[in-house]
Amino acid sequence: MKKTFFNLVQDVQKEGECNHCGGCVAFCSAINYGALDIDDQGKPFLKDIEKCNECGLCYSICPQTHELDDDIKQNAKWEEPSGRIISFDVTRANDPGIRQKGTDGGVVTAILCHLFNTGRIDGAIVSKPTPHGRVPWLARTAKEIMDSAGSHFGCSHGMNRFARDYVTFSPSIKALAELKKSPMDRLAFVGTPCQINTIRKMQALSILPSDAISLCLGLFCSGNYFFQDNLFAKLEEKYKFSYTDVEKINVKDNFIFTLISGEQVDIPIAELHPVRRSACNFCEDFSAEYADISFGGLGAENGWTTAIIRNSIGRKIFEDALKNVITSFSVKDNPKYITQAQEKIFNVSIQKKQISEQNQIARKKGVRLAQLSI
Ligand SMILES: Cc1cc2nc3c(=O)[nH]c(=O)nc-3n(C[C@H](O)[C@H](O)[C@H](O)COP(=O)(O)OP(=O)(O)OC[C@H]3O[C@@H](n4cnc5c(N)ncnc54)[C@H](O)[C@@H]3O)c2cc1C
Ligand code: SF4
Ligand code: SF4
Ligand code: SF4
Repeated sequence: MKKTFFNLVQDVQKEGECNHCGGCVAFCSAINYGALDIDDQGKPFLKDIEKCNECGLCYSICPQTHELDDDIKQNAKWEEPSGRIISFDVTRANDPGIRQKGTDGGVVTAILCHLFNTGRIDGAIVSKPTPHGRVPWLARTAKEIMDSAGSHFGCSHGMNRFARDYVTFSPSIKALAELKKSPMDRLAFVGTPCQINTIRKMQALSILPSDAISLCLGLFCSGNYFFQDNLFAKLEEKYKFSYTDVEKINVKDNFIFTLISGEQVDIPIAELHPVRRSACNFCEDFSAEYADISFGGLGAENGWTTAIIRNSIGRKIFEDALKNVITSFSVKDNPKYITQAQEKIFNVSIQKKQISEQNQIARKKGVRLAQLSI
């Protein structure tokens, strides 16, 4: 018998492994069954049981069931320990305006804007900052792509007075639904490794509208975090800063709050365990192993982005970007910069897989879960 959404609830949601990627809902909606919906926190639920025809594809598409892992590994020519790698680079945007807005070196935004301005994409699924976190967004202009850059905090713009909740997660796959209203052929998708995984599974099954995604830009990811008022209060006291002074957040070796003054407050990732999404404790992918190009700050100096080029699509786009809109870190400044970045990424990737395996066992035994330490 085919496994359906009921099995997803049992095997994934109740086990705390649902990463809220939205893949099951996107699929069910894409083929017009519409049995599922997603709540404001990104959790899928059965909206209309009458519409479920028990096709079982929501179960197959879910990254946490691992049903199509072999197919996507084969399609991506996946290799140990962290996916296929054609080359590494550490780069930043040439445009100082993009650099200033960017999370790290503004490279993702520079590449997206360049592709849009040269007519090679019609838009990009990104995520837009709001005072309480990010929301999925289908950007249709270079300005909209620019507005989605970076990880700026709403509160520094005077909008935080009603609450201090902040979530780093954005259910970006939800934006695929926009394509129903205004179809596009050549879209870039920016997302966390679990979201890229879902897109690749949709593509492996030829599920519309995943065919419209011509480029997957993945972000390194140690986890997603949901900050609430009481946690902020503790962090403010311990690290002697004020929430209202936070200009920007970022995750690299630590979770980083950059204040309006430019001062940086570094919080060890292990300390944020209580607010880390449960599913992230079981996640195996740090460096977006199925993306065309993956990006992160790990291994790079402040203000620079580490990039992993994974296939010929990624290489063509990256090489063109290097000629036009981004610059590589100078070997003269640090001859070992590439090997250092590569080593760090391999180490974290291996550690994440080991922890995922340990935590599957720990959960069954009901003992404490292991934590990622970067
Ligand atoms: C939840 C999360 C965890 C991360 N963890 C790590 C980590 O542990 N180590 C590390 O080295 N790097 C991590 N990164 C990646 C890092 O923060 C930067 O996104 C990356 O270095 C690219 O920087 P940039 O300046 O080139 O990108 P930018 O030019 O600033 O572009 C960033 C792009 O990412 C999109 N985006 C931002 N937030 C989200 C989101 N929540 N979901 C989907 N898309 C989003 C934006 O819309 C924008 O298009 C994480 C990113 C996220 C979103
Ligand atoms: S119709 Fe198919 S995809 Fe939708 S909930 Fe039912 S089994 Fe899942
Ligand atoms: S992990 Fe994604 S596909 Fe799986 S149940 Fe959760 S939202 Fe659906
Ligand atoms: S660690 Fe990142 S990629 Fe993995 S499940 Fe959590 S949000 Fe998704």
